[in-house]
Amino acid sequence: MKEIILVKYGEMALKGLNKKSFEDMLVKNIKRRLKSLGKFSYSAAQSTLYITPEDDGIDLSEAMERAGKIFGIAALCRACVCEKNFDDICEKSYGYLADILSSARTFKVTAKRADKAFPMKSPEICMELGGKLLEKFPNLAVDVKEPEVTVTVEIRDTNAFVHAENIKGAGGLPVGSSGKALLLLSGGIDSPVAGYMMAKRGVRIAAIHYVSPPYTSDRAQLKVETLCEKLTDYCGGIAFYCVPFTKIQEAIKDNCPEEFFTIIMRRIMMEIAQKIAEKDECLALITGESVGQVASQTMAAIACTDAVCRIPVFRPLVGMDKTEIIGIARKIDTFETSTLPYEDCCTVFTPRHPKVRPVLTDIEKAQNSFDFAPLIAEAVEKTELKTFTPDCCRK
Ligand code: ATP
Ligand code: MG
Repeated sequence: MKEIILVKYGEMALKGLNKKSFEDMLVKNIKRRLKSLGKFSYSAAQSTLYITPEDDGIDLSEAMERAGKIFGIAALCRACVCEKNFDDICEKSYGYLADILSSARTFKVTAKRADKAFPMKSPEICMELGGKLLEKFPNLAVDVKEPEVTVTVEIRDTNAFVHAENIKGAGGLPVGSSGKALLLLSGGIDSPVAGYMMAKRGVRIAAIHYVSPPYTSDRAQLKVETLCEKLTDYCGGIAFYCVPFTKIQEAIKDNCPEEFFTIIMRRIMMEIAQKIAEKDECLALITGESVGQVASQTMAAIACTDAVCRIPVFRPLVGMDKTEIIGIARKIDTFETSTLPYEDCCTVFTPRHPKVRPVLTDIEKAQNSFDFAPLIAEAVEKTELKTFTPDCCRK
């Protein structure tokens, strides 16, 4: 029995004239993610994408799993391909839906007839097929309001399709359709979630991470690389910039008042991030900050950090609490890695009493008492780039 995957578009189905460019982006992303599983052909009609396996033995469960993580998809399902005649539709339905229908109590049939030349109208298809399924599966009763199983028959140009399960897609917009932004990725719980959330809005992600060896270890960096790799399942390929930050942190420690360490450090992180963003054509920065979570995330502290930013800084977690963030971290499988106990550069030289209400002019004065520009230039110069692609694309 030949099977295909049907993909229903998400929010992009509502787009007007530029829907085609969203659609092209989605198809490109799906093609890239499924390529290593074998050859597929793609065709689109009425906000549905038909993905047809062209090789024998393609693992469709794996294809569904991968497609389920691609943004821009509202729902997806596997469907059985039938000839465009009612007998074949019935015959195939019996076999294809046997498992699901024999263990259900209630069902209904819906029909979509895109090909108006098909001799039966939709209500007739529903009635006739419904009756036949009732005969075949005596355990079933019809429930049009809240059925356990909805059998859908679609009559399209070339074929008819039958399916029963609709799986929720990842939602959002296709990655790349909203441009690119640079994610400040730490080893913590929050920033990977922030990257995931912006990717869901169609933003391609590049990541930047600051390391301070020997205060931070290789394992801490590897942990962040693992997070980056995990994010590629949702975000697609990620350029990962690793910035040597030790000299800057030492200079802050030696030249600035202790209570300002964190804010000055964060301002310099932002300055470096903007230089990398410019090189990599990223239009915004992304952080995992959430108002009030720690001393450097009070509104006053965020204002001092933002004062050095010339491009937008997205903080998608800003109004979320930690349990919500953890919920997403678990869903996208970053939580376990994020909670491994390695140090981050933010935990090096943390002030005993950080300023929770820093005043910008004080911070600027403290920061201007030392010329950080050469160190910043050197850090950018020595930044290393690695590229991460989804596991499946490397196979
Ligand atoms: P996270 O869980 O993402 O580490 P956090 O609650 O620990 O966040 P902070 O340590 O204050 O908060 O960091 C705030 C944000 O700054 C992070 O979400 C991240 O975007 C960025 N950040 C912190 N440390 C680093 C780092 N070493 N490299 C890159 N970005 C960082
Ligand atoms: Mg952190």
